[in-house]
Amino acid sequence: MDDQLVYDSFFEGSYIDTIQDNKMIVVANSKLAVSILSTKYKDLIDEVVRQATESNFEIQFVDKEFTKKPVEIKPVKQPFFADSVINPQYTFKNFVVGPSNREAYQAALMISQNPGKLFNPLLIYGGSGLGKTHLLHAIGNALKEKYPAMRVLYIHAQEFLNEYVKYVQGQNEGTNLVDWFKDSVDVLLVDDVQFLAGRVRTEETFFSIYNNFHSAEKQVVLTSDKNPTDLNGLEERLRSRFVSGLPLNIKPIEKETCESILRLKIEANGLDVNDFDPEVIAYFAGTFGKNVRILEGALDRLLFYTVNIHKTKHVDLPTAMDSVSSLAEAQDAKTQLSEDKIISAVADYYSLAPYQLTGKIRTSQIAMARHIAMYLIRTLLDVPFTKIGQTFGGKDHATVMNGVQKVENSIKTDKELAKAVNELQVRLKA
Ligand code: ADP
Ligand code: MG
Repeated sequence: MDDQLVYDSFFEGSYIDTIQDNKMIVVANSKLAVSILSTKYKDLIDEVVRQATESNFEIQFVDKEFTKKPVEIKPVKQPFFADSVINPQYTFKNFVVGPSNREAYQAALMISQNPGKLFNPLLIYGGSGLGKTHLLHAIGNALKEKYPAMRVLYIHAQEFLNEYVKYVQGQNEGTNLVDWFKDSVDVLLVDDVQFLAGRVRTEETFFSIYNNFHSAEKQVVLTSDKNPTDLNGLEERLRSRFVSGLPLNIKPIEKETCESILRLKIEANGLDVNDFDPEVIAYFAGTFGKNVRILEGALDRLLFYTVNIHKTKHVDLPTAMDSVSSLAEAQDAKTQLSEDKIISAVADYYSLAPYQLTGKIRTSQIAMARHIAMYLIRTLLDVPFTKIGQTFGGKDHATVMNGVQKVENSIKTDKELAKAVNELQVRLKA
């Protein structure tokens, strides 16, 4: 890429937003520009600023969204879900609609215009990376815009479990959880309700909370990675409530929609779609399109590659294919497959945070994911059991060995598990 192009793509349009003490905040014109200015050109910019100002500013690059976000005024600390936030990046505007997700999108949009009155609960279910969480936050953002006073709460079902545990341990100074929901929340958005399955007391409490919302005509929106009718271990009455409103499926995204998503993300990075050969878009949609999260990851690689490694403005198919393979190789050589990488891949696969895998919580779902991570570390990296035990919070040799053994045995009979392990092995070797 020549200097002029670098300038036009990443420097042009950036400006100093604020200076406070020794901190300088610079707004750049895209996320990609932020990442490039703050890595590749950081030293250069630091030096130029130092010369011009004769002082050492600590420069932080941010994108435009950053300054649009209102200054966060932390509400009085609430006894529950104090850290819950609705992500302003996920909106209806940047959600690409196609046949696979149209129904879910329309229902979500309607609810955000008229909460509590149409279908309650709205349940969106479908596979990983198909936009369920995105839609949930989009509802939250649209509600906040239309009804600023409305108290909208987004929670992940896993957070609900954690909060419930703290609650029964009496860590919330006597506030009743069910009453708190009733008095403090107007619209409830719960992500990944499959995590509630198999937790009888938590389900009971959730059931009471849900009933209060329903009878007060307060909107509840739920997502699940499966149709609740296929959710093993979910209490019958909860299952029937979940599907009593409007259950809608997001299907795997068709190729054309994937291509539109790619074009949107390219433009969102401040680049021109016309610089990409149509075959590039088609190749990416075809290869990575089963899961939009993975598609985004691949696109990030491509953009990074064409800016930093194979400096080119026009992206053709060989370059694009090269970007995905050679980056994988480069990554292999540099970081190789590590325990951390395996743990994050498994965590990602099960929508968990890595610390949950290495931590102590023992729900059956987390325990299974943890065993799978141990199994992969053992089989792919040949790490001694004792060492694996240290990584997982000081477990002993026997515990790790049992976990690994369990996965080894179950793979032979449990198709679902075998598929998960296989998929993870493929991802880790990609
Ligand atoms: P899920 O919750 O179904 O696993 P997410 O909502 O987390 O999936 O989506 C994964 C990523 O893909 C997010 O970054 C999201 O913004 C993006 N994404 C998914 N579907 C779409 C879409 N139709 N249009 C734009 N972005 C999408
Ligand atoms: Mg999700």
